[in-house]
Amino acid sequence: MILMKDVYKTYENGVTALNGINVEIEQGEFVYIVGPSGAGKSSFIKLMYREIKPTRGTLFISNKDVSELKEKEVPYLRRNIGVIFQDFRLLPKLSVYENVAFALEVIEEPPKNIRRRVMEVLDLVGLKSKARFFPNELSGGEQQRVSIARAIVNRPKIVIADEPTGNLDPDTSWEIMRAFEEINNSGTTIIMATHSKEIVNTIKKRVIAIEDGLIVRDEHRGDYGYES
Ligand code: ADP
Ligand code: ADP
Repeated sequence: MILMKDVYKTYENGVTALNGINVEIEQGEFVYIVGPSGAGKSSFIKLMYREIKPTRGTLFISNKDVSELKEKEVPYLRRNIGVIFQDFRLLPKLSVYENVAFALEVIEEPPKNIRRRVMEVLDLVGLKSKARFFPNELSGGEQQRVSIARAIVNRPKIVIADEPTGNLDPDTSWEIMRAFEEINNSGTTIIMATHSKEIVNTIKKRVIAIEDGLIVRDEHRGDYGYES
């Protein structure tokens, strides 16, 4: 489903963030991306939703060569990929409902379907009763759950998360992890960069460690492997 072959990424300032990545991720896997700061984790993740393009090498997602996509084809890729960030990135002037509905409105879903689907995913993340609230009226954990609802509302095949619990306290982080596990149980591939040793060592999944732009470890039910 995701295949990277000899992927390199050098930024315009000359910094090489990825140094020959080879990896295959199957549909339905749950993968943690770990490694020190500056190792290339975010760059690895950004390639998958085409925030950045590889300098060299190829990247296939569902048999499509993402490195070759034309700009106008990128939105179609993004429909199949939900993205979740550490800082939530909700639209502050839109309600919870509107933040989630937005993703469906841009693809011109019929309004009746939008309403049903938005309430269904808000229910899934436990926020149905807060549909009319605005982001600044919610706790960090609730805001992250809205961003999860927004990421899955299109039923993407892949959900990518860059440090989704980085701004949350431990209890809230476990709640968010339960939501990810549920999404994964429905068959969605999850790729999550994290610095949480506790999470990786407790909820055992595939672990890919990146250091200096290279995969240095790839283990089924692996450990975090760093001190903190
Ligand atoms: P991580 O997520 O593991 O901290 P990143 O992928 O963010 O790693 O960064 C890898 C390297 O690439 C770092 O040296 C970082 O400074 C550099 N880098 C990241 N983004 C950019 C950018 N837009 N322009 C230039 N250098 C960048
Ligand atoms: P439906 O019978 O509504 O088509 P699905 O099999 O698509 O149901 O989904 C079953 C449950 O999983 C529903 O609660 C739905 O909201 C949720 N769900 C659907 N797609 C995803 C997804 N990509 N990620 C997480 N949950 C999903």
